[in-house]
Amino acid sequence: MRNYLLLTPGPLSTAQTVREAMLQDWCTWDKDYNEGIVTPIRQSLLKLAKVDDADYTTVLLQGSGTYCVEATLGATVKPTDKLLIIANGAYGKRMATIASYYELNYELVSYHEAEPVTPEVVRRALEAHKDITHFAMVHCETTTGILNQLEEVSRVVKEYPVTFIVDAMSSFGGIPIDVKAYGIDFLISSANKCIQGVPGFGFIIASRKKLLECKGVARSLSLDIYDQWEVMEKGKGKWRFTSPTHVVRAFYQALLDLEQEGGVEVRHQRYQENNTILIEGMQELGFTPLLPAEIQSPIISSFLYPSSDFNFQSFYESLKAKGFVIYPGKISDAETFRIGNIGDVYPEDMRRLISCIREILE
Ligand SMILES: *Cc1c(COP(=O)(O)O)cnc(C)c1O
Repeated sequence: MRNYLLLTPGPLSTAQTVREAMLQDWCTWDKDYNEGIVTPIRQSLLKLAKVDDADYTTVLLQGSGTYCVEATLGATVKPTDKLLIIANGAYGKRMATIASYYELNYELVSYHEAEPVTPEVVRRALEAHKDITHFAMVHCETTTGILNQLEEVSRVVKEYPVTFIVDAMSSFGGIPIDVKAYGIDFLISSANKCIQGVPGFGFIIASRKKLLECKGVARSLSLDIYDQWEVMEKGKGKWRFTSPTHVVRAFYQALLDLEQEGGVEVRHQRYQENNTILIEGMQELGFTPLLPAEIQSPIISSFLYPSSDFNFQSFYESLKAKGFVIYPGKISDAETFRIGNIGDVYPEDMRRLISCIREILE
């Protein structure tokens, strides 16, 4: 059934159950779809985020993850507000690109890709810019696989009167996040990362109070998360504009599979085990991970080229011929490639990968 196993940061290899769930068509007007699929999805997302319906709500939005990041920034930061973005990779910087398209009043504090966003860094930035009203960061920077210290940072952010926006695209569902305890106001993720659905929409877990303040703020109709939410809320799961029905149905299945697996904690352990096998195996083969173990996420890892004449393209092709697809690197000052371990991928797959790499190198 599979052409290859995707060891990439998403889209990723999905389970057959998820792919099979797409073999039916759904009416977006009918309650079987809205109340039977969309509403339970919204409820499960709140459960995964450890929040309840009284304080938090969800907005599902068509498009890839970036659409949801853009929608959130564009609907929350008013012309009189000021946004602080702390970035240590491409996705953090992309938030600044969005801010500049929207001509938001923003401050970008940029760090090296191998340096984590820590509470100290955040405190320094918030102290230096006292007029900040919104603070945005990425949890797991997929650029390198670095895991920023979200919980520790959240304690600092709580001391300031700012709206807290987190791009948890590549971590939500795969790393436990206590959204309420961390005081996150807007958490953004998408269907095709750790929940292991197929691509086509993203979602925002939002503080009800803060979302209500977004009414009339959005500069884009399609990306107006307040309007999208209002239609979904009043219509009991009705999407504004065409809903990606097959993708939504597949996501519903992916959520059932996640529960079946044992929930986020159990999935986190699997990813962690995949990652340990990967890193230890690669080190035995002579590869050096870009990041030290303390800041390495269990989501994706970057490895340095083993030598200056290393040919990534031929390495990639040889691995693909053996059934594994990996990813090029994305950082500015070192030659790297990436191997992801999220998706319908298990420890035995990682062991098989390592032995295939050994064969290629021989
Ligand atoms: C995948 C990802 C995104 C969104 O990327 P899309 O290509 O738009 O889906 C944003 N931030 C992070 C950290 C990601 O890993």
